[in-house]
Amino acid sequence: MKLILLGAPGAGKGTQAEVICDTLKIPAISTGNIIREALKNGTELGLKAKSYMDEGKLVPDEVVIEIIKERLSQDDCKDGFILDGFPRTVPQAEALDRMGIEIDRVIDIEVADERIAKRMSGRRVCEKCGASYHIEYKPSKAEGKCDKCDGNTVIRKDDEPATVLQRLEVYHEQTEPLKDYYEKKGKLYIVEGQEEVKDTTTLTLKALEA
Ligand code: ADP
Ligand code: ZN
Repeated sequence: MKLILLGAPGAGKGTQAEVICDTLKIPAISTGNIIREALKNGTELGLKAKSYMDEGKLVPDEVVIEIIKERLSQDDCKDGFILDGFPRTVPQAEALDRMGIEIDRVIDIEVADERIAKRMSGRRVCEKCGASYHIEYKPSKAEGKCDKCDGNTVIRKDDEPATVLQRLEVYHEQTEPLKDYYEKKGKLYIVEGQEEVKDTTTLTLKALEA
């Protein structure tokens, strides 16, 4: 199954992507994580992306399109995958179409802006492996420590309140039109994000079977 997860920043795409990954045994691909990894390693891609990311802007289409092309050509993607955070613009979606990739369905996780702003302040990420947590909704077992690798969990620079507002604006302007794009193709499934993560998960799994 080839899936796309859509939704505003902080809507919980990453968490749902992990659940689907475990359930369907297909890789979850997060462009955000790939870029953060590149940044950490100081690669050319990382350097290119840094200023955009820090300001809550989108990294240019041609850069992320190259990233995704390369990632999807790897062996583990041949039986399907979940895209978390790609596409984020109509040109990115068109690029995916041009690659000849047939997406089976697009799951859009809907959460109101007010709730997003609140949630983002509790978000933490492991600085070593990139695993994500939330102090309220998805705490790590030991405070400040990653369950997977024992790295430190920290606040992402772009999760600071002013940047979050900017990211939400970018989302409404550039990413939300993708709902229409995939609705017209008959591929869109809407999941209303719930207060409890496990309740959202139940709805996501239902959307896979529908
Ligand atoms: P979230 O899931 O909270 O929205 P991500 O980790 O997916 O955050 O993305 C963080 C940042 O990485 C974005 O704000 C953007 O700068 C960059 N990024 C990730 N994916 C894309 C994409 N498909 N197109 C452009 N920029 C992207
Ligand atoms: Zn970790």
